[in-house]
Amino acid sequence: MSNLVIKELFRKIATFFRFSLVAFFILILLAGFRLYLISNSNVENPVFTDGDLQMYMLDVGQGDAFVLLQDDKAMLVDAGPLYNWNKTNKELKRLGVKKLNYVVITHYHQDHAGGLYSVLFNYKVEKLIIPNMSSFNVQLSDLFYHCINFTTKFENQISGGKMIEFVKRGDKFNFANSEVNFLSPTHDFYENLNNYSLVMKVTYNDIDILLTGDIEKDIESELLSSKTDVSADVYKAAHHGSCTSNSKKFLEAVDPQYVLISSNNGEKNLYGHPIKRFMDYLEDEDINVYRTDEQGTVKMMTDGKNIEFDCVEGDYKSGFEYLESIREMQK
Ligand SMILES: [Zn+2]
Repeated sequence: MSNLVIKELFRKIATFFRFSLVAFFILILLAGFRLYLISNSNVENPVFTDGDLQMYMLDVGQGDAFVLLQDDKAMLVDAGPLYNWNKTNKELKRLGVKKLNYVVITHYHQDHAGGLYSVLFNYKVEKLIIPNMSSFNVQLSDLFYHCINFTTKFENQISGGKMIEFVKRGDKFNFANSEVNFLSPTHDFYENLNNYSLVMKVTYNDIDILLTGDIEKDIESELLSSKTDVSADVYKAAHHGSCTSNSKKFLEAVDPQYVLISSNNGEKNLYGHPIKRFMDYLEDEDINVYRTDEQGTVKMMTDGKNIEFDCVEGDYKSGFEYLESIREMQK
């Protein structure tokens, strides 16, 4: 390598770090400013429901974002992807949310935490619930992870350590008339960031909803071997219906009546989520499917006994089959 090439390489690295530092600095300033404006404000939510639990699976493209509303309480589970950074904020506004009692970020992948900045800057967040990922071997190049991690910790410091709560298996809290139980993670170290995902069961009277983030088959096996009760009426397909997850044994144990799938639509669906094996299983078992790639944002309501959706159920096409059918229609 010539001296010139080495010099150019060093110059690029220096520029990259300078840019990163400036970005960090700006984000921290904005975070502090947000807290100054929002944290002490007395905003209150309207009464969203008369006891019923509503859950919205937001159409955020390639990512996850779920809004749960009950009485005057609001909870966000994941905040959508970085490329669609303001979508969750807009949807929360549309739903009339003024304050988030809980924000749960299942793990720090950008398709789940990417919209968090926009949410933090726009809403008073009382509790930010995350898994403890301090043992995870994060690379310096995982800039997004560092930014989110640093900013949220900084905000936590300012709020006197009251904002962030690290949870693990066995932890629980009440959300209006519902109970939220965390089933995973069990350990504080996993090789794969997906496996840190918070798995939570939301129970309102007779109805159980299982939200799984992006857990992979290792965690599904761990839950089964520990004889955890994963059974649920409504199941959020793990990892967007990917082949890494949704093993047959796990699905049999969950035994859902309804499955929710959040994946990207049309030609932007690069991963082919959800996969054919999974969709074939759901069709064979006659399980109703709701999916953002086909149906956009999906609203679910329950009175604690019955479940209703605001749209008819989706079909059983895999992501790739769905893409094919779009291409056929374009011909
Ligand atoms: Zn994901």
